[in-house]
Amino acid sequence: ACFSLGVMVTMNQRLEADTLLLVADEFGYKIEFSDADLEEIEAEEDMDTEEDLSPRAPIVTVMGHVDHGKTSLLDYIRKTNVIAGESGGITQHIGAYNVKLENGQRITFLDTPGHEAFTAMRARGAQITDIAIIVIAADDDVMPQTREAISHAQAAGVPMIIALNKVDRPSANPDNVRQQLSGMNILVEEWGGNVQSQEISAKFGNNMDVLLEKVLLQAEMLDLKANPDRNAQGVVIEASLDKGRGYVATMLVQSGTLKVGDYVLAGKNHGKVKAMLDERGRNLTEAGPSIPVTILGLDGAPTAGDKFKVYEDESEAKTIANKREQLQRELSIRTKKHTTLEELGRRI
Ligand code: GDP
Ligand code: MG
Repeated sequence: ACFSLGVMVTMNQRLEADTLLLVADEFGYKIEFSDADLEEIEAEEDMDTEEDLSPRAPIVTVMGHVDHGKTSLLDYIRKTNVIAGESGGITQHIGAYNVKLENGQRITFLDTPGHEAFTAMRARGAQITDIAIIVIAADDDVMPQTREAISHAQAAGVPMIIALNKVDRPSANPDNVRQQLSGMNILVEEWGGNVQSQEISAKFGNNMDVLLEKVLLQAEMLDLKANPDRNAQGVVIEASLDKGRGYVATMLVQSGTLKVGDYVLAGKNHGKVKAMLDERGRNLTEAGPSIPVTILGLDGAPTAGDKFKVYEDESEAKTIANKREQLQRELSIRTKKHTTLEELGRRI
């Protein structure tokens, strides 16, 4: 059968998963790949029971049309005293930061360029945003990138909070924006709908505290939880090569607790965590769920959106990496229902 497919093999040669599958099919057999392995490796997170879980901070992405005020909003939050008990604000510009509000509650903001990051991460299968703030300048219309941002959030099933920005401007007309949104079937609270919204001025800080309260309210409804007591896993936000420090990667912990000394596998890269820093450049020894950290010690720069996971040691990380790759290949073949022998022949 292999020869007829143009695959020249010997009797004791291991076949590629897709070849195996089709050859077996040819003889009326079904191959069972090891689901047990797959579950063990990939579905560890599902093993958490309710009592393992603790509340975690919401992870928020800010999206919107260019010049509508995304950077101003993030900068305001980063620099001002909405952050309790912290002086000086955040100076480091890293892809994510966690702020503590007056009431002690925390919010993590993803400070990556708008929906590019959102789509790049989603394309890689990483869904990390809990809530999307859609910034719309109240002195402008609902623009193409606004629509795009809204449809990304909707497609991902991420609840939105509409921030009607620049209301300090005399030309601001928030009702015009509400009107246009209603034309897209998005009815904000003030108009009797269920989409939260808030008029703000990101530049002057007006009602920014109210906006953040709405974020927390939304978060409460989502009942966000994770297990902090396990090996960490999460997503790479950004990574680069730093002249003095080697490869630095900003990671967002999604579950478990990441610690200095942990062995991390992130995308194709791995290494022992030599040091961890927060958004203020301070050293941390550990970081729990929803906390972003910059880590030092990887052997390269993984790609934004890559998943990371902590393993007991280097050899386990490497074994798992290979196994995972193999299983994913087999799985993707299994879901490719329309592959035929003929197509396989063509590919070979
Ligand atoms: P981005 O492209 O969405 O990141 O928008 P920016 O935050 O860079 O803002 C674009 C311009 O609008 C800048 O000149 C800001 O100073 C200005 N801007 C942003 N927010 C406000 C606001 O609330 N009021 C006023 N008057 N200007 C704002
Ligand atoms: Mg900007």
